[in-house]
Amino acid sequence: MPEMKHKLEEKEKCQIEGCKNTAERSVSAAKLSKVYSKMGERKGSVRICREHYRKFKKETKEERELERLGW
Ligand SMILES: [Zn+2]
Repeated sequence: MPEMKHKLEEKEKCQIEGCKNTAERSVSAAKLSKVYSKMGERKGSVRICREHYRKFKKETKEERELERLGW
């Protein structure tokens, strides 16, 4: 039987410095650091909120396609 424990709601926060929104998307850290240089060196992916994601998309237009793929 599956355990039905009450989990703490895990809401990840946007990892952009100073942002307190809930993270809804994850993007490549390398790409993100091109837009937000403050991110510094990171590996893997970074979780960001919708607003920052929008900005990110604007700055990286070539990534547009991804949204259509059901991100
Ligand atoms: Zn954010």
